[in-house]
Amino acid sequence: MTNRFSLALHGGAGTILRSNMTPEKEADYRAGIRYALAAGYAVLEKHGTAMDAVVATVCALEDNSLFNAGRGAVFTSEGKQEMDAAVMDGATRKVGAIAGVFGPRNPVRAARAVMDHTDHVFFNGAAAVEIAKKAGLPFENEDYFHTDARWQALQETLHLRAQGKESDDPARRHGTVGAVARDMDGNLAAATSTGGMTAKAPGRIGDTPVIGAGTFADNASCAVSATGHGEVFIRYCAAHEISARMRFAGQSLADAAEHVVMEDLAKNDGSGGLIAVDKLGNITMPMNSEGMYRGCVTEDGAFNVFIYADE
Ligand code: ASP
Repeated sequence: MTNRFSLALHGGAGTILRSNMTPEKEADYRAGIRYALAAGYAVLEKHGTAMDAVVATVCALEDNSLFNAGRGAVFTSEGKQEMDAAVMDGATRKVGAIAGVFGPRNPVRAARAVMDHTDHVFFNGAAAVEIAKKAGLPFENEDYFHTDARWQALQETLHLRAQGKESDDPARRHGTVGAVARDMDGNLAAATSTGGMTAKAPGRIGDTPVIGAGTFADNASCAVSATGHGEVFIRYCAAHEISARMRFAGQSLADAAEHVVMEDLAKNDGSGGLIAVDKLGNITMPMNSEGMYRGCVTEDGAFNVFIYADE
């Protein structure tokens, strides 16, 4: 059966355990996911485009300091925030990506400005910021982006590192937000945005803005947005690999995504997960970690919200 429209989102994957969660924190995460789903659903039910829907969804997550993107972005080893984001339109294969950016309130909109207003696909640093400025996007200052929880996570990570150890809690170290959608016209789109990994080296870029790794969309197969250990997702071209398996091996979306997450990534230190939608509007959200903040909605308007792997 074809869904008239479908939307899925994630807010990062990792060691997300019930034992580490308070009822209040869990309620806040679930409310944040529901709020972001509602933002994308509002676009799709009015016959809006998949691209508008994924950008609206990701903006809602970027504005929520619980998630590691936009307002809640993590800090580099030097105490700065360097954000990465990308969008891809499955109908046209148009792409916009940015890396190492600070200032735009919604990095995903800066990525979209690259797609909409330039002849290129990928900008970093000051040039990307300039494109966002020219597009008239809202900017915020350091106070807006600073959260005590992320600053604390940096201090703890640096403290462990000074003792020659790395944090064994991936949930504290990274996170990302993303959305995929199929609209009423059958077009697919994907968007992903991240602060990267806590205490990352300055200039380090993860999989999020790398097309085919953390973000991909093609109407002929699927739209994918990933979250996890970015270096491994890049090495295995995770998002594009799912599309290739569907096109060349005739696999279903669910089988292709499961293979990439559980075989290619899990067996090579690539902890994390992804969300994906195919041209019929089927959704899959596999992970190889204990949890992934995630949710989905189709035309029936029921918001499905999940956190733990066994939900
Ligand atoms: N994939 C992101 C990165 O490597 C982090 C994450 O999703 O947790 O930058």
